[in-house]
Amino acid sequence: MNDLIYFDYAATTPVKQEAMDAMADALRHFGNPSSRYEYARQAAQQVKENRAAIAQAFGCAPAELYFTSCGTESDNWALRRGAELNRRRGRHIVTTAIEHAAVLETCKDLEREGYEVTYLKPDRAGRVTAGQLAAALRPDTALVSMMLVNNETGVVLPVADCVKAVKAFDSAILFHCDAVQGFLKVPQPLAKLGADLVAVSGHKVGAPKGIGALYVKKGVRLRPWLTGGGQEDGLRSGTEATAQIASFGAAVRAAAAEPNRLERTAAIKEYTLRQLKAALPRLEVISAGDAPHICAVTLPGYKSEVVVRVLGDRGVCVSSGSACHKGKPSHVFAAMGLPKPWLDGALRLSFSPESAAEEADALVRALRDAADSLFPTLS
Ligand code: PLP
Repeated sequence: MNDLIYFDYAATTPVKQEAMDAMADALRHFGNPSSRYEYARQAAQQVKENRAAIAQAFGCAPAELYFTSCGTESDNWALRRGAELNRRRGRHIVTTAIEHAAVLETCKDLEREGYEVTYLKPDRAGRVTAGQLAAALRPDTALVSMMLVNNETGVVLPVADCVKAVKAFDSAILFHCDAVQGFLKVPQPLAKLGADLVAVSGHKVGAPKGIGALYVKKGVRLRPWLTGGGQEDGLRSGTEATAQIASFGAAVRAAAAEPNRLERTAAIKEYTLRQLKAALPRLEVISAGDAPHICAVTLPGYKSEVVVRVLGDRGVCVSSGSACHKGKPSHVFAAMGLPKPWLDGALRLSFSPESAAEEADALVRALRDAADSLFPTLS
C-alpha cells in the first residue's frame, strides 16, 4: 500500500493477492454458469467450489448460502423478506439503536410501510443484553435483527444468547444477524449463532467490493429477492458475479489459513492503544472493542473530522466513525450517551493481522502532531 498508513480496515480491506489472482482467472474463464457447454460448466463448478469454501468458514451447508452484491443487499433481503414471511404474526420488529445504516434505514423504511420498530438502547459501553431483548418481545413480534460486531466500537453483542431468548419466547420469530464485521473476526463459525439469517460482505475480508452473501437457515422459506432466470436456487436471480465469487472464496480460504490472525490483530490493537495513551494524555478510550480489529477513542475538545483530514494529509487513514457518516456525529456513540466533547472528538481505529508496530508508531506520532497543531475548542 505504498506509504499509506492504513487503520481503517472496518471501512474496507485491501484486496488479498490470492483474491486478485482468482478474480483474474475467473475473468479469463468468462463462461456463463447457466450455459450448457463444457466451458460454462467450468464457471458453474468454480461458483460451486467457492460457495462450499465460504460455507465451510460459515459452518453451514453450501445450499444455505446465497450470493448477493454486498452486505447492504443481504441486510435488505433478510429484513424485508423476513418481515414479510412473518407478516401474519404481526408487524413488530426489534433491533438495536447501534445497527449499521443498512439495517436502521431499512427498518425506517419498514416503519413507513406500517411496521413498528423497537430500537434497544445500548449502555454507556455500547452493550445490549439478552434480558433487554427478551423484555421487548411481544406476541406480534415478527423479526429481530441484531448485529454481531458493532462497526464503530468493536463490541461483540451476545447474539447466541439473544437467539436463545427469542426462540424460547416463540420459535416462529425470525432472527437476523448483520455479521458484516464479525465474519472471520470471531472464533466461532457464524452458523453456530443459531440465527435464521446472517449477512456478510466480501470487501471486509480481503475480497473486492461488489460481493456479499446471505445465510438462510435450512427450512426458512424467504420469497425470492430478485426474480428472473432462477439463479441462486431461484431466490436471487441474475447471472452470477463469477469473478467476485471466485475472489470472495479465495479471500476466505486465505484468511482461514493465516496463522493466529485474530491474536495478531488483537495484539497490534492493544499495542496501539497503549502507545496512544502514553503519547496523548487527553485521549480517552471509548471502547477497546471485544472484536480484535476495532476500537474507538476520543480526543475531547477536538473535532474528529478535522483530525481525520489532517491525518489524511499525512497519509494516515483513520475514520471519525463509520465510513457512511460523512461528517454526521455517530448515532452509535450518541446512543451510548457520550458527552458532546467525546462525540465530537471520536475516532475509530481498525486493524488487520498485517498491521505493523511501525505503522502504529507512525499513527501515534501523526496524531500527537495533529493534536499539537490544532487548537482544542475546550480548555
Ligand atoms: N453492516 C455493517 C456492520 C457494516 O460495517 C457494513 C459496512 O460498513 C455494512 C453492513 C454494509 O456492507 P456493504 O458495504 O458490503 O454494503
